Amino acid sequence: MKEQLSNRITSLPASATLVMAAKARELKAAGKDIISLSLGEPDFNTPDYIKESAIKAINDNYNSYSPVDGYADLKEAISLKFKRDNNLEYKPSQIVVSTGAKQSLANITQVLLNPGDEVLLPAPYWVSYTAQSILGGATCKEIPSTIENDFKITPEQLEAAITPKTKMVFFNSPNNPSGTVYTEEDYKALAAVLEKHPNIFIVSDEIYEHINYGTPNFSIACIPSMYDRTITVNGLAKGFAMTGWRIGFIGAPEWIAKACTKMQGQITSGTNCIAQRAAITALTEPVSKIQYMVTEFEKRRNMMLEWLGEIEGFKLNVPKGAFYIFPDVSAFFGKEIKGKKIATSSDFSMLLLEEANVATVSGESFGAPNCIRISYAASEAQLKEAVSRIKAILA
Ligand code: PMP
Ligand code: GLU
Repeated sequence: MKEQLSNRITSLPASATLVMAAKARELKAAGKDIISLSLGEPDFNTPDYIKESAIKAINDNYNSYSPVDGYADLKEAISLKFKRDNNLEYKPSQIVVSTGAKQSLANITQVLLNPGDEVLLPAPYWVSYTAQSILGGATCKEIPSTIENDFKITPEQLEAAITPKTKMVFFNSPNNPSGTVYTEEDYKALAAVLEKHPNIFIVSDEIYEHINYGTPNFSIACIPSMYDRTITVNGLAKGFAMTGWRIGFIGAPEWIAKACTKMQGQITSGTNCIAQRAAITALTEPVSKIQYMVTEFEKRRNMMLEWLGEIEGFKLNVPKGAFYIFPDVSAFFGKEIKGKKIATSSDFSMLLLEEANVATVSGESFGAPNCIRISYAASEAQLKEAVSRIKAILA
């Protein structure tokens, strides 16, 4: 039969992060010595105390469908977590557990967006916000930022980007890919603009909250005027090294939580029951238990900044969180390196892959076409080797 996919899937961009990760895997399988710094995934194992609770859940015969929005005691644990870590009051009825933060975000865009709506994306932004907004029928408008301003947008830029069609704005702090952390002061200034536009929803993606090197996190929903319009998104993938367990969650106005539950009631029937039991342990035990990973990430960040800072042409900001370095490499545009013409950050990223066997992701799909994203969620030895290979081809 002739291939005849829907317009929906045909017009959907593939996830640039996952495409690059797959390419790196493919080349490795073909025998190439690839260092993959493309995927945003902790290189740690899930901590034992969390694994043990999952094993116990299996032995305790957790094998049936859970409530669609998550087990009641997990939602209770998430409610306490929001209070403990974010100073946010979300009742269990305002919480929905999903198959990763990615699905939490997909639910939100599906239940709130209509064709014709505009979504604002402070750039750089995580790749899937665009695709999910498009699936919701909306169009996306980027708000650019500069490395000089630590990749933060200003209230004036936000104001200028808003139109009567604006329905939603995405914030992500600590940010993937730039590592930028928006402070309480930053958010208060942005909220002052949003207060003048009461019909705009705010999605606050806080999945990197624990991977933070000292700038206090602030949840925009803590601002009273923003609370009723904000969906706070979080998950276990990053801070707890649980990417494959697929647990994400939201705190939101109850009517939005209900709609998200209705959505996943038709799409997934809820999240894996074993992972949910383990999530209770992850969220109830003290955060200090995962600090060793953050300490290690910070050490690697500092090393990467030092090493990459020695490369002429790499312009760097200091990431305050997450595990990515996001250098501006536009100084190489227009040059020819190893016989390859470099016109874009995709060309540069491809050069690193083909000539240095180092996989990174171009900033283009993050809305920052001058940059590339390098994940430092890899061993010190791998990072060192990757940088020395990059230096060698650029020398
Ligand atoms: N938001 C951001 C900013 C991310 O980097 C990721 C990457 N996984 C997600 C959401 C999705 O997380 P999850 O693995 O929980 O779906
Ligand atoms: N969020 C990670 C990243 O940005 C994982 C990949 C993905 O979910 O798209 O690399």
